[in-house]
Amino acid sequence: MEFCGGHTVAIFKHGIRQLLPQTIEMLSGPGCPVCVTASSDLDKAIALAQLPNVIITTFGDMLRVPGSYSSLQLAKAEGSDVRIVYSTQDALQTAKDNPNKSVIFIGIGFETTAPTIVASILQAEQEGIDNYYILSFHKLCPPIMKTILDMGEVRLDGIIYPGHVSAIIGSYPYQFIADDYGIAGVVSGFEPLDILLSVDMLVDQIETGQPRVEIAYRRGVKPEGNKQALELMSTVFEVSTANWRGIGSVPSSGLRLNQKYQRFDAESRFDINPGPSREPEGCICGSILRGVTTPLECKLFGKVCTPEYPVGPCMVSSEGSCATYYHYGAYYGG
Ligand code: SF4
Repeated sequence: MEFCGGHTVAIFKHGIRQLLPQTIEMLSGPGCPVCVTASSDLDKAIALAQLPNVIITTFGDMLRVPGSYSSLQLAKAEGSDVRIVYSTQDALQTAKDNPNKSVIFIGIGFETTAPTIVASILQAEQEGIDNYYILSFHKLCPPIMKTILDMGEVRLDGIIYPGHVSAIIGSYPYQFIADDYGIAGVVSGFEPLDILLSVDMLVDQIETGQPRVEIAYRRGVKPEGNKQALELMSTVFEVSTANWRGIGSVPSSGLRLNQKYQRFDAESRFDINPGPSREPEGCICGSILRGVTTPLECKLFGKVCTPEYPVGPCMVSSEGSCATYYHYGAYYGG
């Protein structure tokens, strides 16, 4: 299983599945941050967007992801102030430019993007910007890998670990997967040769019966990770329970602002009640994220649900499995 949506895209784009012998079956994992954001969390973002004097800032992918009853795009069309930004610096600048409004940045992503949020919060603190908030939906990779393995729905012999996440956390946090589950593992880069090398290293570990954690992406990842980024993250964030689409509430799998920085936390600052959530009807994104089904098994794929008119998040995000199958899946009958 390749955990990361970026790897899934690279594998499909370069036809790597077809290059591999039939004895190797590849599965896509839950590593698309937009896709794993639960409907209930999206509903919170939409509820915040509907408050007066609030500006929502977000990366573009989030805009079109359907929540239970609406989307940020729809909220924007109905008059909410929702703006696409390309970095947390843009979001912070929006806060500086609009001192009479509350500016909320929707923080989605894995360990890769968390340090940039931290930098923006520390800058806001330093510059006395008091109208900047984070809605943190950040998620952690190793705990969700453990959850998926413990669910026992998929039997994995090897895992291609994410490259960018590992550049932050290093390779040590995956050691328990080799030790406790006997599963081979390689941290991979994103070029086709990186992925082929990683598959070769995985096969070698499996054939020799020596599962371990190796790094094929040496130019980007050190075993100990990026110590400075990890220290920064622990200054502002603490580990918390997170909601995952298709998986549910998983303890210790997310990041929230710690007590010291709680004044930047949008959920604590604003009173919202988005009500009960629901999944898009007919969408099997959840089981796709767990590696149990593929997009081709969804009755809506390519018919009702397309990148132009997405029903679920896996078709919205450029790293989503459904969008990837749609764009590159002709080889697979998609
Ligand atoms: Fe959901 Fe669309 Fe993917 Fe089906 S094709 S699982 S409806 S995102």
